[in-house]
Amino acid sequence: MAEQAFVTLATNDSYAKGAMVLAKSLRKHKTSKKLVVLVGPHVSDQSRAVLHKIYDEVRLVDVMDSGDTAHLAMMKRPDLGVTLTKLHCWTLTHYSKCVFMDADTLVVSNIDELFDREELSAAPDPGWPDFFNSGVFVFRPSNETYSKLLQYCTEHGSFDGGDQGVLNGFFSDWSTADITKHLPFIYNMSSIAIYTYLPAFKQYGANAKVVHFLGQMKPWSYTYDPKQRRVRGDVQEASHPSFLLEWWALYSSEVVPMLFREYGDQPFHSGCEEDVAPSQDAPLPMSSAERKQKWEQGQADYMGIDSFDNIQKKLDAFLK
Ligand code: UDP
Ligand code: MN
Repeated sequence: MAEQAFVTLATNDSYAKGAMVLAKSLRKHKTSKKLVVLVGPHVSDQSRAVLHKIYDEVRLVDVMDSGDTAHLAMMKRPDLGVTLTKLHCWTLTHYSKCVFMDADTLVVSNIDELFDREELSAAPDPGWPDFFNSGVFVFRPSNETYSKLLQYCTEHGSFDGGDQGVLNGFFSDWSTADITKHLPFIYNMSSIAIYTYLPAFKQYGANAKVVHFLGQMKPWSYTYDPKQRRVRGDVQEASHPSFLLEWWALYSSEVVPMLFREYGDQPFHSGCEEDVAPSQDAPLPMSSAERKQKWEQGQADYMGIDSFDNIQKKLDAFLK
């Protein structure tokens, strides 16, 4: 049987950081699958060098250069640039089955069981659950499917301007045909759940296997203070409280040193504040009601008392 792989995509250095953290998180949770990253021509040599060290395969996808139907599709639909690049994952025909994951996802538990599923399996989109979210999906590479997808793209475009619109149009019976193709939400849990259904998030958020930082603010849009282990900026607006910090912990400890090695003397900004003086005043202990309020406002003490480990311990104690 041919091999199986997790696949992601990065068309620039920012998304490349995401891809590096994603692969580190897959390896941390001991995946037995191959790891493949599709890179666009604008990813720097330094980022590519790091990707080569973390991934089993780094494949350059240059839609404008490909001279095939993809190029034609691109000429007709210049608005669908990244979308067409993502569809390239269907050309990885040396793998029998793959799981695509957006570069803004983070794995927090082994998910190799996803390979038991069939094309096209995906989790519901939290905004419109009759559509699947295209941040995590199971697919079978096939040149035939690839050319049909490109054809669909040129004929119908994408109703939302992105790959999710194209893929939902193409795999249009997803919502009704086969319930085994509906992945549980914990395989693609987005921060939206915090705001739209807080009690469910509190109850089940700790079961998440994949966290998806969808939306405008990505983990790498913030800055991080490694000494205090805090993310700066208006975190509330965007992300999973403790998961954002988990992303930064992995990035700062495992990816940043690799990037600095590649950049050498050349300037490189990691996003970490390296020289921040540690705060002088120790925080006052908080009452449990105060803590609850802070938590609900998205101001949890991510690495301290509200850390993922502590929440998990509490849940475990409760279940026993
Ligand atoms: N992507 C990329 N470069 C871009 C935009 C997107 O490489 O400029 C890839 C990347 O893998 C990303 C995916 O396409 O995770 C989907 O985009 P994004 O995650 O930004 O969309 P969202 O999940 O926020 O809807
Ligand atoms: Mn995404």
